[in-house]
Amino acid sequence: MEKISRRLFLKKAVAGLAVMAVSPSLLACDADDAEGAKIRKIAPLAGCYDVVVVGGGPAGFIAAIAAARRGAKVAIIERYGFFGGMATTGYVAPISVFALKNELVIGGIPWEFVKRLESMGGAFIEWPKANIDFDIELYKLCCQRMILEAGVDIYTHSAMVGCQIAGKSIDSVIIENKNGLETLEAKVFIDCTGDGDLAHMAEVPMQPNPDNELQPSSFCFILSGVDTDSELLNKCMYHNGINGPSQCKPVREKLLKMKAEGVDMPDFGGPWFNNVLHKGSVAVNMTRRATDSTNNRNFSATECQLREDIFTFTKILKENFKEFKNCYVASTAPQAGIRESRRILGVHTVTADEYVSAFKYEDSISRGIHPIDIHASKGTNQVRIDLNKPAYVPYRALITKEYPNLLVAGRCISTDRQALASLRVMASCMGTGQAAGAAAAQAVANNQKVQDIDTAQLVGVLKEWGAVL
Ligand SMILES: Cc1cc2nc3c(=O)[nH]c(=O)nc-3n(C[C@H](O)[C@H](O)[C@H](O)COP(=O)(O)OP(=O)(O)OC[C@H]3O[C@@H](n4cnc5c(N)ncnc54)[C@H](O)[C@@H]3O)c2cc1C
Repeated sequence: MEKISRRLFLKKAVAGLAVMAVSPSLLACDADDAEGAKIRKIAPLAGCYDVVVVGGGPAGFIAAIAAARRGAKVAIIERYGFFGGMATTGYVAPISVFALKNELVIGGIPWEFVKRLESMGGAFIEWPKANIDFDIELYKLCCQRMILEAGVDIYTHSAMVGCQIAGKSIDSVIIENKNGLETLEAKVFIDCTGDGDLAHMAEVPMQPNPDNELQPSSFCFILSGVDTDSELLNKCMYHNGINGPSQCKPVREKLLKMKAEGVDMPDFGGPWFNNVLHKGSVAVNMTRRATDSTNNRNFSATECQLREDIFTFTKILKENFKEFKNCYVASTAPQAGIRESRRILGVHTVTADEYVSAFKYEDSISRGIHPIDIHASKGTNQVRIDLNKPAYVPYRALITKEYPNLLVAGRCISTDRQALASLRVMASCMGTGQAAGAAAAQAVANNQKVQDIDTAQLVGVLKEWGAVL
């Protein structure tokens, strides 16, 4: 049998384990050789699965449920102690968008999640676009209930810090938690880390970024003591396009004027004051700074500056707008929000032209209808291109040419910068997560590479679940 090299990529590579000769093991949980045993001394085997999903955000938790519902034995790895990704770790709201003119564009498990959350009193659906305002704590609870009911094994408080690959096939991922380092083997892996961490560690080629331009990071926070019954907030807190633009224009204009007159304040976006379903409280999205979230020193420093900005803006709001005169920072999000970082170079890259013209691919597996929404990395501006028709996403944007058992979903799929600026929203990420989960289970059931699965069969399953394709 052909000898290929297995490589262990650990954040801090463990000396002596870098290159090992073993037999290939496509779609198999069988790294039971001497070298595998050596690695397990450092990182004992915690579980062997059909599908391992890395990252429990909108893409990841839906992917895990989808794979499990197609009969796969599934694990989900999440570095925080709860699920939801940017919705719960970034206080990003609302979930955008499921519909166009009251017609669902993204259906199936993502919509089932919304309806379940609504039945728990945790979601308010803003028709006609079906932006979803939500209660952050009930979102976490609803996620975990649906994940557990699907029979998925949960590894929370676990950061994925490495992977072991043979050729281009990923054998296992290494996680770090209170137990130390642990190994999880699987036949197929789905990278839903937002930043494409697993793909990056496995040396998957990424989209080029020649201009070194990234959308800025924003640190969202909850302001309480806000007069949410006021006319101003009632106009600004909704995103249905009926009450007016969701960006709070009166506040924006006054802040821009103050800035032009020399009042010292950082750059800001919006502001957006998002409904969290609790009287007196809003989730505020207005801070912004350019950063690279994949560079730890850079991101840590930016987050400290953004935290200062939160309190600077709170003071400004308090002193200049009567609706905010009693407000206070009730909570800052567990982390600053990330709009853009790594994206894989997939078999197909979704381009802005395809996206805006709603090009329908043979292997379309999901949709998107949010505007292309590019926030300037510096300054207060934002470019928006509204879509007339819902766009499509091909299965080929979730896979690479060479890696037989890796799928990605969510923010790190293969798109150009413009298409990402729409597809990054949470309903769209759930849509690609649903497709990736279903595809992973299908690859396992048929012992096929992810590149070889029957996409007509995949689309059939997604439609049965309610996807609008
Ligand atoms: C400021 C801001 C405002 C936004 N506004 C909106 C909006 O109004 N509406 C909307 O729908 N979208 C909005 N978005 C976009 C949206 O929130 C994200 O693009 C979306 O959440 C991406 O989903 P995801 O599942 O790909 O990744 P994420 O939501 O980032 O989830 C990734 C998950 O993986 C986990 N993870 C990452 N790395 C590891 C690792 N190594 N090991 C273990 N776990 C890991 C993370 O903890 C996280 O839970 C906004 C984003 C930002 C930053």
